[in-house]
Amino acid sequence: MKTIRSPRQMQSLALAWRRAGKTVGLVPTMGALHEGHLSLVRRARAENEIVVVSIFVNPAQFGPKEDYLRYPRPFAKDKRLCERAGVNVVFSPSPSAMYAEGHDTWVTVEKLSRPLCGAFRPGHFRGVATVVAKLFNLVQPARAYFGMKDFQQMCIIERMAEDLHMPVKIVRCPILRDPGGLALSSRNAYLAPQERQAARNISLALRAAEEVIKSHARVPSAKVTAAAWSILRKIPGMRLDYLSVADPATLEPLALVRGRALVAAALWIGNTRLIDNRLVRN
Ligand code: AMP
Repeated sequence: MKTIRSPRQMQSLALAWRRAGKTVGLVPTMGALHEGHLSLVRRARAENEIVVVSIFVNPAQFGPKEDYLRYPRPFAKDKRLCERAGVNVVFSPSPSAMYAEGHDTWVTVEKLSRPLCGAFRPGHFRGVATVVAKLFNLVQPARAYFGMKDFQQMCIIERMAEDLHMPVKIVRCPILRDPGGLALSSRNAYLAPQERQAARNISLALRAAEEVIKSHARVPSAKVTAAAWSILRKIPGMRLDYLSVADPATLEPLALVRGRALVAAALWIGNTRLIDNRLVRN
């Protein structure tokens, strides 16, 4: 396994692979890898000749008061996990190489970036779309793997790739959870044991919402959110950003659920912001 830091070197290698007719799978991450990330890597390993994992804590997607500086960076451990998972290249550029002096180009996916997390994290998805566009240009993947845990991010990347005619297939990957149902996340490392225990109520709440949807042919969203809220409110000291029943294509809120819906929540436990969702098909 190779570790590459220079964007230019990454791109020359990617262009050489392309000339040699090799298919490349890319798994973009911010590191602090867990089984959720590794499930994407395994899928990429199974479907491509070359697998690249990017590890880059992208400053452009953090707000000024967010956790950019304290975000975990266990790089040596991440490299070992990648090596064991059969990754060919870990691409880990520096912020100054990705955003050189005078950098002034941004990618904005307009409508999809507004609801849900977009309403609470201004500029976040602009940072995400921009860095992923750069990674696609540097790694030239045939396929790129995204977790449904970050459902809105995944939709935004799909839209960007289609709108900008990027020759890459976006592969949706299911959410991995711990045995208690908590969606795996690098940020779970911030949780104290009792906070982690309380966080399990998030997936329980989303499951309760799913039950309500599945037991009605049509049901007002208010009834769905009420079921979820009755569980979420038990989390001590929790602060809710949103609990939404949304159209899974536009991410806009639904008043009435008939069939498919995305139930999504974002909330704070102490200083940790957690997100989770369930895609429900009635
Ligand atoms: P991150 O390092 O948090 O930026 O995540 C990198 C990629 O891994 C994103 O596509 C995430 O959606 C995906 N991912 C993170 N957590 C999980 C999980 N629990 N299950 C599946 N995919 C995940």
